[in-house]
Amino acid sequence: SITISALKEAPGENRVALSPDVVRKLVKSDYQVLIEQGAGERAFYQDAVYTDAGAKVVDRSAAVKQATIIATVGQPGDDVVDQLQAGQTLLGLLSPLTDLDFVKKLAAKKVNALAFELLPRTVSRAQTMDVLSSQASVAGYKAALLAADRFSRYLPMMITAAGTAKPTKVLVLGTGVAGLQAIGTAKRLGAMVSGYDIRPASRGEVESLGATFLTTSVSATGEGGYARALTPEETAQQQAELAEFIAQNDVVITTAQVPGRRPPLLVTQKSVDEAKAGKLFIDLAASELGGNVAGSKPGETVTTPNDAQIVGAGDMASQLPASASDMYAKNVQSVITDITKDGELVMDVDDEVVGELLATYQGEIISSRERSAMD
Ligand code: NAD
Repeated sequence: SITISALKEAPGENRVALSPDVVRKLVKSDYQVLIEQGAGERAFYQDAVYTDAGAKVVDRSAAVKQATIIATVGQPGDDVVDQLQAGQTLLGLLSPLTDLDFVKKLAAKKVNALAFELLPRTVSRAQTMDVLSSQASVAGYKAALLAADRFSRYLPMMITAAGTAKPTKVLVLGTGVAGLQAIGTAKRLGAMVSGYDIRPASRGEVESLGATFLTTSVSATGEGGYARALTPEETAQQQAELAEFIAQNDVVITTAQVPGRRPPLLVTQKSVDEAKAGKLFIDLAASELGGNVAGSKPGETVTTPNDAQIVGAGDMASQLPASASDMYAKNVQSVITDITKDGELVMDVDDEVVGELLATYQGEIISSRERSAMD
């Protein structure tokens, strides 16, 4: 039969790839499940809960060595990769588009790697496997809460005997899954919300949430419903037009991504320098590669000389670890169900979903999207 493992993630990652609920379902369907000791701790899932669900709690090395499929959230460390054997399958957010060395290492070991970043988002069968969507949704929600928590004023209009507070103006740049969830949450908190995206198709979704949709003279739709990267001229034009919107708002939440690329810079150093005291930027794109806001730092809050704040919030899904893990685990379960049959692995490299999801298979680097990103 097939053995599925979940490992303890790197420090700072609070999510876990399998939830007790999903473990119970897998065990019921005749999979064996191994959970590394303490793997769920930071999501408040203790070992005993996994045992109750039918998993075996084991040490790290057993969880790696005995697994047919190892499910992770982020890339596993070298200690794990070193122990992987040919024919084992790794499933997670493996950063194949930005870390070719890691992919090569897995291919060299003949480990099959399924990377959620490669999932074809628009194929309907893939929707239950869509980790990027499930985690972006969590991140957008949490970003709006973080904004409410960090901002120095009420979000909603408040009419009281001690006077009236105006509603806070919140601007969301990038209105994909995360941005839309941030808009919905900020609206529910009573803020005055507007949204902007480079894809004009986003207008209807933003407006249906009761927010105002803003546009610039630059627009761009790429492949698979994603935005494409802009030329330097388009970037400069967009930045100049966005500067005005940014200046008019109190809180700016940024979520813009282009697959396999450095996140686009939407808020320039000039806009940051001109930001007034108390203004708040929440940058969901903040990463080691840079973010949407000039000077944002992942995991840190930067205060500008004028006393504006830039929160590097690239880890928002990890900050709501139980809900994020629940959804992540459902996505994992859906992939597992898709690539196994009667106790055997069945991965079809020509399948429109699995073929794309595969970063490596039997020693080959196979995804076409991945190859094009590496050129
Ligand atoms: P993402 O995380 O890749 O990017 C976030 C947003 O940033 C996107 O809306 C993108 O257009 C925007 N963006 C990129 N460059 C920008 C720039 N220079 N300026 C402003 N905005 C910029 O996006 P996502 O949330 O993963 O969604 C990507 C697409 O996939 C969307 O069209 C979404 O509707 C679609 N989607 C479809 C399905 C489905 O059909 N099942 C599921 C999920 C997402």
